[in-house]
Amino acid sequence: MQRALFRRSAPLAQQAAAAFDNQLAARSAPLLQRVDRSMSSLTIPPPACMLRPLEAPLRYLFGPGPSNVPPRILAAQGRPIIGHLHPEMYTIMNDIQRGIQYIFQTENNMTIAMSGSGHAAMECAVFNTVEPGESVLVAINGIWGERVAEIAERMGANVHRMVKAPGGYFSNKEIEQAVKKHKPVLFFLTHGESSAGLCHPVDGIGDICRKHNCLFLVDTVASLGAAPIFMDKQNIDILYSGSQKALNAPPGTAPISFNERACHKMFNRKTKPVSYLFDMTHLSNYWGCDGQPARLYHHTGPVSGFFALRESLAIIAEKGLEESWRKHKEVADYLYRGLEDLGLKLFIPEAELRLPSVTTIAIPDGYNWRELLAYIMKHHQMEMTGGLGPSIGMVIRIGLMGYNCEKSNVDMALNALADALTNCKKSKV
Ligand code: PMP
Repeated sequence: MQRALFRRSAPLAQQAAAAFDNQLAARSAPLLQRVDRSMSSLTIPPPACMLRPLEAPLRYLFGPGPSNVPPRILAAQGRPIIGHLHPEMYTIMNDIQRGIQYIFQTENNMTIAMSGSGHAAMECAVFNTVEPGESVLVAINGIWGERVAEIAERMGANVHRMVKAPGGYFSNKEIEQAVKKHKPVLFFLTHGESSAGLCHPVDGIGDICRKHNCLFLVDTVASLGAAPIFMDKQNIDILYSGSQKALNAPPGTAPISFNERACHKMFNRKTKPVSYLFDMTHLSNYWGCDGQPARLYHHTGPVSGFFALRESLAIIAEKGLEESWRKHKEVADYLYRGLEDLGLKLFIPEAELRLPSVTTIAIPDGYNWRELLAYIMKHHQMEMTGGLGPSIGMVIRIGLMGYNCEKSNVDMALNALADALTNCKKSKV
C-alpha cells in the first residue's frame, strides 16, 4: 500500500530512473531510440557500452595476482554496506586489526588496512617515515625495490640503490656495509619478489638496522600467508602487504603495521607528509590507534573491501597461519617436480629461496613466451604471466595462492603448459 503510494507520488525523475533500470534489464532495443532528444539538455548521450551488461569472464587466475576469490569472501563483499563511521564498522575494522596482527605476528597497536592497493601501503610507509632530504637505502632485485626508490625520490628523499639482477639476493654483510656507508633513515627490502619468484631471507637484517639507527621496511604483498614472516621477532619496523594474493580478497585494501620505533620517527617529524590521504596522524585516528576518544571522519573507507578483507583474515585465522605456510610449500614443491618433469627449468636455482606463492620458470629455449601465454589463455582460460620490469623476457610466472593453492590446480596448470609447449612449436626459432 505504502509502496503504491510512494510510486504514485514519486517525482518523475525517480519513475524515469526505475523505468530506465527495467529497460536496461530487457536490453533489446537501444535506449536512445526511445529518448526524445529534443527534450534533453545533454550533449553527450549515454555511451553505448554502458547499455550492455557487464562482462567479467570466469578465469583461472594462476598468475602473480589477483588470485581467484573464494565464494565465502565474495559473499562477504556482497553484503549490504553500512556507513563507514557506524559502530559496527568500527568493530569490523578492529577485527581487521587483530587479524593483521596475527598474520604479521605483531603486537603493534599501529596496525591498519590502507584504502588502496599494495602501492598505497608502499607510499604510506615512505611518505610518513621519511622527510625530504633524508637518506633512504633500497635493495633492488626485481621491480618492487625500483618502485619504492622512485616513490622515495618523488617525495624528495636522497635515495641509494643496491642492485642485483632479478633472482639475486643480498647478504647481511652487504646490507650492513651499505647501511654504514649511506646512513639511511629507512632500508627497504622485498620479502616476496614476485617479479623474480624469490623469497628473500630476512633474519638478522632488523638487528643491523637497529644497530645503525635505521628503520627496516619490508614488502610482503606477494608472500604474506604463503611464506613465514615474524614482524616482531625479526625486528621489522614497518611491514605491509596486499589483499589480493594469498589472502584471496579482491584487490583494493592493504594491511600495514608500524612499531614503536617507526611511530616515534613518523610522529616527530618537522614537515607534514606529502599526502593528506596517507597521513598516519589522520589514519591512526580513523583506525582508533591514537588513543583519542573520538574517531573522526578522514576519508570514506572501502566498506565492502573491508568486509572482504575481514573474511579473508578470518579464513586464515581458522585454518592457522602455519598450516597456510605448510600448504603453500607442499603445493609449490609439487609444482616444481611437475615443471621439471616437463623439461622446464626453474628460474631460482636455490630451492630454499623460491617464493612458494609465485613460481618463475626460465623461458624454454626457442619459444616465444607471449605466444605460450596467449595459447594458455585462449585454450585453457588460464592466466599465467611473463616477467615484470627487469624480469620481462626472462621468466614465465605461475601463482597458486590461498584458495588456488591446490594440487589439482597444479595438475591443470601443468596440463595447460604441456599443451602449449606441444602446440606452439611453430614459434620455435
Ligand atoms: N609488492 C609486490 C611484491 C607485489 O607483488 C605487488 C603486486 N604485484 C605490489 C607490491 C604492488 O601491489 P598492488 O598492485 O596491489 O598495488
